[in-house]
Amino acid sequence: MKKPVALPVVIGVLVCSIIVGASAQRRAARDGAAGVDLLIAGGAVVTMNPDRRVFENGFVAIRGERIVDVGDATDLKAKGYKAKLSIDARGKVVLPGLINAHTHIPMTLFRGIADDLDLQDWLTKYIFPAEAKNVTRDFVIAGTRLGLVEMIRGGTTTYADMYYFEDAVAEETRKAGLRGMLGETVIDFPVPDNKTWEAALNYTENYVKRWKGDSLIVPAIAPHAPYTVSEEHLKEVKAFAEKHDVPIITHLAEAPTETKAIAEKHNTRPALYLEKIDFLSRRLLAAHVVHVNEEEMEILKRREVGVAHCPQSNMKLSSGAAPIPRMLELSLRVGLGTDGAASNHDLSMWEEMDTAAKLHKLVTMTPTVVMAGQALEMATLGGARALHLEKEIGSLEAGKRADIIVVDLDAPHLTPMYNLTSHLVYAAKASDVTDTVVNGRVLMRNRRLLTLNEAAVKAAARRYQKQVVESIRGGAQ
Ligand SMILES: [Zn+2]
Repeated sequence: MKKPVALPVVIGVLVCSIIVGASAQRRAARDGAAGVDLLIAGGAVVTMNPDRRVFENGFVAIRGERIVDVGDATDLKAKGYKAKLSIDARGKVVLPGLINAHTHIPMTLFRGIADDLDLQDWLTKYIFPAEAKNVTRDFVIAGTRLGLVEMIRGGTTTYADMYYFEDAVAEETRKAGLRGMLGETVIDFPVPDNKTWEAALNYTENYVKRWKGDSLIVPAIAPHAPYTVSEEHLKEVKAFAEKHDVPIITHLAEAPTETKAIAEKHNTRPALYLEKIDFLSRRLLAAHVVHVNEEEMEILKRREVGVAHCPQSNMKLSSGAAPIPRMLELSLRVGLGTDGAASNHDLSMWEEMDTAAKLHKLVTMTPTVVMAGQALEMATLGGARALHLEKEIGSLEAGKRADIIVVDLDAPHLTPMYNLTSHLVYAAKASDVTDTVVNGRVLMRNRRLLTLNEAAVKAAARRYQKQVVESIRGGAQ
């Protein structure tokens, strides 16, 4: 006969096994929850969340394509995250990836072909003829790759683009791992990829069907401008965008010549004209928006139109200064764009932030407009709002896409540092970016590109140089 076990011992064993079982379950559950793909920890984390929280010593945890946690690095031990890959960000700053709200990426191959001209001369005597003679699908691929290298190196993780052969732009962007809202340009004259309006719409329809629903590429339709696309065609574009549920990207109110052309043809102002033909909506991302008055800004606000402010391009082409301080007061959806490399020379969002913050102080003679924090916001969350993608990107918050950059703060031009935001806007450069992550995938690690062969990309770009020079010899064609 077995010796009876004392009740307290039985209860003790039972309780013990329940505790052991529960803690094993907790551990298993915790290990599952704590398994992350990427952990960036140790640096200052600028979240751009609703409280604009900055963790002096923070972390960002990423699982798959999304951020799962952002917080103080001193809590990491308790959280017990086990990461497949870790990036040590000590001495650096971690930011939401920068959003370039307006580019023509293949135009990197036209970098600097014609300078010191106004918009009309620059466009009609150089750009349109050079495009007619040079732009092919292969040209677009070579220029896109060059632009992608530059953007990944400079910490741009999303860009809004409009050009020809945009299907090829999307393919290259997908392969390189960047995020893009990419618009096929449609215009009322024959262009390199499509010779008629019908062909252009047909191309765009196939393009949209191919990319709709992709996790990186948002396909869009991009009528060039209100003065290069007829009223009837703009209405067709709007119907197309609604039918396929895609965004529209366009240039709007860029230069005084446009204001004059619209006044002559439609007897009104550019933005009022688009309102009159019912073209403005939250589908629209409008680049430049320089020549708008109070009434037009209020309409753009009401219609939730995104605005891509391109200060360097506007300065270089003497287009004017957009009323950005007023737009920010009105809480318009304002982001920053470089425009194409032919009207800016580079795709650096760091220069664009710096210029935006300074230009409006000069124009208004008021040093308190477009503060450093507002410039940084336009390059991140503001850009996301301009693209109507603020639910997915633009800040470092759990649930959002993991589009993150790490910036070194060790350079002489960043030393000493009294104010982080001020340094990011007025002193940091594209070359200070060390790591670029898009959709959870590391595209640059310690300044080494992981998805593109930079030497081959530059060599391919240089091969187009002679051909481009020949094509614009003599200027006006
Ligand atoms: Zn443009």
